[in-house]
Amino acid sequence: LKTSALMTAAVIGTPVQHSLSPAIFRKIAAMENCGLEYSKEDVTTAQLDQFLNQLRSDENRVGVNVTIPHKEAVMPHLDQISNEAKAIGAVNVVQHEGKSLLGFNTDVIGIESTFKKLTVELKGRSAFLWGAGGSAKAVCYALGRAGAREVCIYNPRSSRGAEIAKQFQTLFPATEFKEVNHFSGLNHSFALVVNSTPVGMHSSQGKSKEAAQEDELFFSGLEQLNFEPGAVAFDLIYTPRSTPFLRRAQRLKLRPENGLGMLIDQALASWKIWVGPLKNEKILHEDLAKYLQGILNLRENQKPIFLTGFMAVGKSSVAVNLAKLIGRTAVDTDQVVVERAGKSIADIFSIDGEPAFRKLEAETIAELSHQKNKVVSLGGGALMHGKNLEVIQASGALVYLSASESVLETRLMKEGVNRPLLSGLNSAERMDKIKELLDLRKPIYEAADITINTDHQSLDSVVEAVLTEVGNLA
Ligand code: NAP
Repeated sequence: LKTSALMTAAVIGTPVQHSLSPAIFRKIAAMENCGLEYSKEDVTTAQLDQFLNQLRSDENRVGVNVTIPHKEAVMPHLDQISNEAKAIGAVNVVQHEGKSLLGFNTDVIGIESTFKKLTVELKGRSAFLWGAGGSAKAVCYALGRAGAREVCIYNPRSSRGAEIAKQFQTLFPATEFKEVNHFSGLNHSFALVVNSTPVGMHSSQGKSKEAAQEDELFFSGLEQLNFEPGAVAFDLIYTPRSTPFLRRAQRLKLRPENGLGMLIDQALASWKIWVGPLKNEKILHEDLAKYLQGILNLRENQKPIFLTGFMAVGKSSVAVNLAKLIGRTAVDTDQVVVERAGKSIADIFSIDGEPAFRKLEAETIAELSHQKNKVVSLGGGALMHGKNLEVIQASGALVYLSASESVLETRLMKEGVNRPLLSGLNSAERMDKIKELLDLRKPIYEAADITINTDHQSLDSVVEAVLTEVGNLA
């Protein structure tokens, strides 16, 4: 187990801004109580050489995950490459050991872990595979290593199916790899069908009805295949959760599995290469699945998330950090009101009066309720006025960030911001006022879909709790 004071790793590629890897590795580091810092680094093809040279001399960097477009280009720069990575022709994990760089492909590990979890016996059995790209090769490798009897590859757009059948036939002579162009008349019943194409990815977003139907039709051959009892349908896609392939498979009573478990197992495999064994892999896997499903759901479902709670509870910082993680924009209603009024909240209250502030606030909330991909932090009193609560409940998810009175007082003092409702009070009076306001507001805050207690929690753990809870709302 590595215990270097500072360990760093990163995902490299371009573009990398939507990569889930930083969220995954930060969560693993937190759960393993291990100080690994993980970042994403946009590295262009022109920069790859220099990046890898620097990596060799960076003592803290345990390695990198490699993504598009460098999975093949990185290979000639490495000192050693695993058999899996050589067969697949792509490296997705680089380990930095001493002055050497070692290349791995953890797709195979992710696929094998999925087979194991599903307890699908592949030795002497037949499998049918849609697609013949990079991940299809990893599937072929795993099937060859498992001792499958036959692997039928369907890849109608190009000759890659025939090419990989030939390649893996040489590597695993005991398994029959063959390209197929039809579905009927095949000799065997299948224990496994796999989709390794991107057909059906993001199917719920921005696709015409015709394009979505085309995706569905691509898998119509499933109905002509024969299956063993308990056969598994495995789609490598993990977003959306349910795909055209899996929906058809479910209608045929096959056991469906999407690619999220594989994604997690691959990441855990990277960790084990860089750092060493994990303390409790099963619990970690379960927690990561819930966390990542939350992120993915919130990337798909674009309805606004509103954060409510008392002043200084941390709504704005939670909104900003949550928004970053799920690719949304954070908006603070108080800030919007200040911009619209052209003066500070204290000035609006003292010059125009509270009703003027509440009117602007209500208009802002009504507008935001129609906007996609927003995380909105609400002013502490917003829900108590007009139809704000109704408007919010009808449009998105409402989260109450709670805190005890003493914690709120400490945070308010730390902030040192002049709040109109608390100005001019001494400490005892302030506590009384906080209590009074909280008693009044709490029943309304508690109308939220979810309550997260923020007492003694770090910002990251509050963000994670919000994300997991909201992302897994029915
Ligand atoms: P790839 O190397 O680009 O291969 C894609 C394959 O799909 C090729 O055989 C391609 O056919 C075929 N294909 C693409 N679009 C098609 C279409 N519209 N109609 C018919 N066939 C089509 O991609 P990859 O790296 O293997 O990834 C494939 C999928 O697996 C992606 O959705 C990816 O997200 C997913 N994946 C998931 C994980 C995980 O951890 N869960 C890991 C790796 C990949 P041609 O030969 O004709 O181009």
